[in-house]
Amino acid sequence: MSDDQVVPTENSPLKETIEDKLFLVKYKPDKDSHIEVDQEKFKADTLKAVLFICPAKVYELNEETGECMVAFENCLECGTCYVSCPEYVVWKYPRGGFGVQYRFG
Ligand code: SF4
Repeated sequence: MSDDQVVPTENSPLKETIEDKLFLVKYKPDKDSHIEVDQEKFKADTLKAVLFICPAKVYELNEETGECMVAFENCLECGTCYVSCPEYVVWKYPRGGFGVQYRFG
């Protein structure tokens, strides 16, 4: 181990999981989704990358129907799905005042 590596201690913030950090994010969800998935194109896609690239785990596979479920309320507005899967994801920013609430501090 080199001298510049940081080793997490018991109470270190580095021990937090992504789920721990996502739990602290504040949202003001709109009643309508700002994300749409073309289910037929999603089903036809063998890779289904959108299930793996979202840091907020917005997209989940419904094992019974094969459709993509979208928990739009958890979107961090990073735009990764918009860039990665434009063939079946239609993403836009939520309406003004809604969505993730970013603050300094
Ligand atoms: S914009 Fe980012 S956080 Fe929101 S659904 Fe797409 S990948 Fe997930």
